[in-house]
Parts: sequence; C-alpha cells; structure tokens
Amino acid sequence: MTDLTDAPAPANPLDTAKAQLASAIEILGYDDGLHRMLATPRREMNVAVPLRRDDGEIELFMGYRVQHNISRGPGKGGLRYSSSVDIDEVRALAMWMTWKCAIVELPYGGAKGGVTIDPREHSMQELERVTRRYTSEIMPIIGPERDIMAPDIGTDAQTMAWVMDTYSVNHGYTIPAVTTGKPLTVGGSLGRATATSRGVVHAAAAALGDAGVQLNEVTAAVQGFGKVGSHAAQFLHDAGARVVAVSDESGGVYAADGLGLAALMRHVHQTGRVAGFEGGDPIDNTQLLALDVDLLVPAAVEGVINAETAGNVKARWVVEGANGPTTEAGDRILAERGIVVVPDILANAGGVIVSYFEWVQANQAYWWTEREIEDRLEHRMVTAHRSVAAVAHAESISLRDAALTIGVRRVAEAHQIRGLYP
Ligand code: NAD
Repeated sequence: MTDLTDAPAPANPLDTAKAQLASAIEILGYDDGLHRMLATPRREMNVAVPLRRDDGEIELFMGYRVQHNISRGPGKGGLRYSSSVDIDEVRALAMWMTWKCAIVELPYGGAKGGVTIDPREHSMQELERVTRRYTSEIMPIIGPERDIMAPDIGTDAQTMAWVMDTYSVNHGYTIPAVTTGKPLTVGGSLGRATATSRGVVHAAAAALGDAGVQLNEVTAAVQGFGKVGSHAAQFLHDAGARVVAVSDESGGVYAADGLGLAALMRHVHQTGRVAGFEGGDPIDNTQLLALDVDLLVPAAVEGVINAETAGNVKARWVVEGANGPTTEAGDRILAERGIVVVPDILANAGGVIVSYFEWVQANQAYWWTEREIEDRLEHRMVTAHRSVAAVAHAESISLRDAALTIGVRRVAEAHQIRGLYP
C-alpha cells in the first residue's frame, strides 16, 4: 500500500501531485479513507500499440488512459505523445485535471492519456496509424459521456480529428463530442487553439492586479514555445508586457529590449526550433529560469522548478502554463523567497474551459461566436482567480493550497453526496 503522507522528496510528477493532495487533505482535515479515495485513480487502462512502420517493420509502443476521478462528470484530459510518458506521469496529469475541472466548475472528472512515442521520429502516416490503433484499444472506456480527449504535448488538432473519426466510424455515425481541440471543419471551437495561453495571461493579469501592477509594466520570460508558450508570449506582448526571453527544448533567446515575436515565430516556423534566432542572445533553459524578470511562465514540461533551480528564480510571479512545472521542494523554496506562484490547476485552466465550450457546442450542434467564447473564458478565469485568492487570503495559505482545497473539497463533496455503492 502506498504511503500517503511521508513521501520522500518528489522525484516524479506523481510524487509532486500526491504531496500537493496530502497538503490539501491536511488543511481540510479529511480522514485517511477519503484521502486514499482521492489519491487513487478510479480506472486505468494499459494498452500495447503495435505500429507497422512505413518501411514494413513492426514496432510496439505502450499506451495509457487514466481516469483519476469521474464523480462530477465524464473524465476529461489530454493525450500526450512523448518518449518519456509512463503510467505515473499520466496518473499525475489525470489527478491535476480532476482538481482543475472542479476549480473552474466544469461538470467533468479528470483523465489523461499517453503513448510512449517521440512523434518527431515518425511520418504523419505512422502517427495516424498509432492514433487510430490507440483509440481502438481504449474505445471501451472513452466517449462523450465517459471520457473526452484533447491535445497535449506532441499531439494537435489533427490527432483529435483522427481519434474522433476512429471512434465515429466504429459507432456508425459522427460523434464530434468525443474529443475537443479538433479542427474547426469537424466541430472544433473558435478560440480553442489559443485558449490555454489566453487563460494564462488572464491569470497573470489577475495575480499582478492583486498587487496593483499591470501587465504593461512588467518584463516576462516564457519557457516552452509550443501550443501554450508561443501564444502566451504573443498575448503577453499584446498586453504590453516586455517579453525578453523564450525557450524550447533546443535552447532559448534573450533580448533585454524585448524580442521581436513576429520574426521569432517565422524563425520557429521555418526551422522548428527557437535556437538559432538572430534577434537575441542565446541562453539555455537554466539561465532562462534564473533571469531577472518580473514574470516567469514555465510552459513546457514538469519538474523544471525544483530544489536545484528554485533558489535562482528572480521573478516576482511564476504563472504555471505547464502542468506540474514546480516540484514540492521547488514550491517550498519559492514560497520562502516570497515569490507568488499561480498554480497550473488555475493558470492553465483556459484550455479545458474552452474544451468544455467545444463539447457543449458539439452536444447542442450549435456554434458560438469567437466573442462569446473569449468573454466567457475571461469571466471563468477571473471568477476562479477571485475565489482562489479569497481563500488564500482568508486562510493565509498559498494560491496553490487554496486552489487545491477548493478543487479537492468539491470532488469530496460529490463523493459524499452520491454515497458509496453498494
Ligand atoms: P507542445 O508539445 O505544443 O509544446 C511543448 C514545448 O515545450 C515545445 O516548445 C518543446 O520544445 C518545449 N520543451 C520540451 N521539453 C523541454 C525542456 N526540457 N525544456 C524547455 N522546453 C522544453 O505542448 P503544449 O500543448 O504547449 O504543452 C505544454 C505544457 O502545457 C504541458 O505541461 C501541457 O500538459 C500543458 N498544458 C497544455 C494545454 C493545451 O491546451 N495544449 C492545456 C493545459 C496545460
């Protein structure tokens, strides 16, 4: 049986997620039984995903789908393609989805999926075959009322179209609500592709606003230049912030007067990487985290702000675009140093909020305007921030603990009111 309270220093995302839950359980005063219920995924599926490569060779990948909690509604969560995906990472990401959906009051539980594959090493045809086979293998547990997928690291709108098509063909009719983050032509939503990043910027604006600071007064650095980081950098720039550094897996660039984002986007589009951009000085990811900026947005992978790096962070605000970028030890160090952390389960909730809008639109077969979507997204982000900030203030706890206690309490209440069957 896993120990829920005396975990060693977090070494992987699941340790971080469990340590965060333990902190919320302690604040809420819940007993061990409820703690164990909330710490344990309701359902997990491990599948083998064989792929016939373009040259005829057969390769085998592992795939996972974890439904951490489905008490408040169907599972909801992304699908990740990365060579580092394993079951514990997927469990952690599914748990964070549970709290996130509860914090922004979506009628969903938390889920996540992954395939241990590096998408950069495969052709589009191979990725399509892997996606369709993975979807077929997990078909029994997904569906618009069961578990709804969205893009994450290494997957995109095209991946979601393949999942939707495979599911639909097997059911004999088109079922757009089985995935979100789809292309517009097959029932995607306006604003979904940029929703996580817009939400990150709303979260940053709200946190800065609590200290009487505006986005147009600050400097910012963004780690990760994918779906979340690239648009977050652009929206921060549009809001008047001076974005002085960005990075991706290849390295980063720094320009004290602010980066020319349009030229940088063109460079990344042409070369596939941030490194090599001539409009700034090269820096590495460790240097980016330690820059003397006001606002740091980690929007890449887990665990980058940790016992080794947290002591060097100079930003006054860390707004987590990525899931789990700060380990428990990293979090403690940032707190000791008075750095405000807007936690992932609040800061990057914009993506699942507009995914929810996409699901609602697909279920109604009626699509909203971009204005309606942007306004409703902002309203939900600002409302969630206010409730989290109010709890943090009233209880003298961090924004992360406040967000967790709100999310965990809502899920626990759903368990309690539904009762235990049989
Ligand atoms: P993505 O695959 O589009 O981009 C990932 C980026 O991170 C790439 O630029 C990659 O080069 C960079 N990267 C990878 N490893 C790195 C490293 N070690 N150091 C620095 N950069 C590195 O993925 P994404 O969808 O933008 O997701 C990024 C993060 O945001 C993930 O934690 C994901 O779970 C989270 N997230 C995504 C969404 C969404 O809607 N896509 C929603 C909520 C949270």
